[in-house]
Amino acid sequence: MHTPHYINGHWQAGEGGDVLVVHDPALGQPFAELVAASPAQVDQAVAAARAALPVWKTTPVAERADVLRNVAEHLVQRRDALVALQMRNNGKPRHEAELDVDDAVATFSYYADLIETQPTHRDVELAAPGFTSRTRLEPVGVVGLIVPWNFPLVTSAWKLAPALAAGCTVVLKPSEITPLIEQTYGEIADVLGLPAGVLNIVNGKAETGAALSNHPGLDKLSFTGSNGVGSQVMRSAAAYCRPVTLELGGKSAFIVFDDCDPDQAVEWIVAGICWNAGQMCSATSRLLIQDGIADVLIPRLQAAFTALQVGNPLAAEVDMGPLTSQAQWHKVREYFAIAQQEGLHCQAGAEVPEGPGWFVSPTLYTDVPDSSRLWQEEIFGPVLCTQRFDTEQQAIAKANDSRFGLVATVASTDLHRAERVADALEVGHVWINSIQAVFVETSWGGSKGSGIGRELGPWGLAAYQAVKHVTRCTDSKTPL
Ligand code: NAD
Repeated sequence: MHTPHYINGHWQAGEGGDVLVVHDPALGQPFAELVAASPAQVDQAVAAARAALPVWKTTPVAERADVLRNVAEHLVQRRDALVALQMRNNGKPRHEAELDVDDAVATFSYYADLIETQPTHRDVELAAPGFTSRTRLEPVGVVGLIVPWNFPLVTSAWKLAPALAAGCTVVLKPSEITPLIEQTYGEIADVLGLPAGVLNIVNGKAETGAALSNHPGLDKLSFTGSNGVGSQVMRSAAAYCRPVTLELGGKSAFIVFDDCDPDQAVEWIVAGICWNAGQMCSATSRLLIQDGIADVLIPRLQAAFTALQVGNPLAAEVDMGPLTSQAQWHKVREYFAIAQQEGLHCQAGAEVPEGPGWFVSPTLYTDVPDSSRLWQEEIFGPVLCTQRFDTEQQAIAKANDSRFGLVATVASTDLHRAERVADALEVGHVWINSIQAVFVETSWGGSKGSGIGRELGPWGLAAYQAVKHVTRCTDSKTPL
């Protein structure tokens, strides 16, 4: 806690102006404090990453892959501690915290295999005689990685694993709300003897994030977080004309057709809005219900929301924990007040259980008009709004009527229709008849206001690679 910044292979004490107070949201109480990195320490981290780049990018691919496999193995060894910390600092129920660790492990293993099997260069056939040409994939260079608090271990893994696999060196800035969990990546780097400067971690609030995103020494920045900060990060990238990946917010639709089994649909809908207490960029917070099933579905949803066990994640029977930060708790409660002012029909929730802790109950508003702020804005809590539709075309139009475009879920036993609707949705990922399962082999990222670029799969690796072409004249007499 006293030396929370991992810079150039050493743990350093913070020299910044901010103190980060780490909370247990189920109790609403602090349990750790750390001093943020100063802008000068961010400079040191970027300089260390720059100095380490020539060695890391020329390290044989098989050795880089081994490092990634070793990171995965060390994460497995630390599983119990990582699960416990995520339960305590994020308020995640045990099964959710366990899945996060599994996801991070799978990500490092996947990119170890992918980088080893990906051809490092490819010959290109030219129509013109007298020339040969080949491509080379090279690391983008020194990369800044800025992440939020809702899935800290996972979001960081989705950036660190492909960046390190590609041969980039990195400076990671975790969220000030969950700054402890990513320390594990620095500890593992230490144990593995990763060359100093390949992986650096600086903790802090907006000032530290801004010092990193505005730093002239980066070749690329990959950011996951809110749209407001994302647009500032993009502005900084524009100042240097350098690439940026943005994974931003969402207001995603869940479309239920009337041929569905209502009980099965309820299970998927509840998971889509109550997993991680709704603090998911991919929360399917706008539910579109076909007229024929609405009167059956809504009472069952109401019953399911009311039956969910909300409480301290240390209790085994708990389905949903608290919101992770007090600020998020205030924000969700503000939306309860807005819903009241707007006269929305509340079918469940909109309650704040007696303290301690930053809990809210799962909340259901039905027949919410398009004009409602709750229909339009990302709330980042367990708050579901519904509308009804008649035809497939109406469902598509309503789902696409959003400035966001992250994900969607379609539930229907007519698979042709479900696939057709999936094709028509303006989002980065669609689930058909399933819970929100994210596999490392598939892409992750949004369309429209939900971001720029893709993570995971080969696209996640490509985000950290630059294409170079080498073209050679094989015949000096060939006219140009
Ligand atoms: P946030 O934008 O407030 O913070 C994200 C990170 O940016 C934090 O590390 C923060 O310290 C840093 N930061 C803050 N101000 C900065 C600045 N001026 N310059 C540079 N960095 C700065 O977001 P949050 O509240 O931590 O996370 C919630 C948001 O993240 C939601 O909107 C959610 O949808 C989004 N999110 C998106 C995805 C995705 O994959 N699309 C995944 C998870 C979360």
